Amino acid sequence: MTRTPQDTFLSDQTLAAAREAALDPGTVPVAITAADGKKRCTWCDCPDGPDSPHNRPGYRCGGCPALAVHVVSVHLGPNLRYDYPACGRHWTEVVARVASTVSASRT
Ligand SMILES: [Zn+2]
Ligand SMILES: [Zn+2]
Repeated sequence: MTRTPQDTFLSDQTLAAAREAALDPGTVPVAITAADGKKRCTWCDCPDGPDSPHNRPGYRCGGCPALAVHVVSVHLGPNLRYDYPACGRHWTEVVARVASTVSASRT
């Protein structure tokens, strides 16, 4: 995918909105932007929770082999941002997980 100036502009707008949202503790500061098409999805299909294989010592997760189409950016402070590249199948899961993690850490 080729990035047009318009894409970049929209991405910047999204990030700016997320930064503003980060100032309001009632909202989750997440921005979804287009990935550059080179990063791999950072998610995986392993089940979550106490039965997750990730809890097993020595377990090595293969991750998701797909290329990321979106980057989920989380703003946790003025200079603290985490980016999670995610494929089209996983990005909504990333957002849901981030949202629940952030709101849990605020209660
Ligand atoms: Zn996994
Ligand atoms: Zn994926």
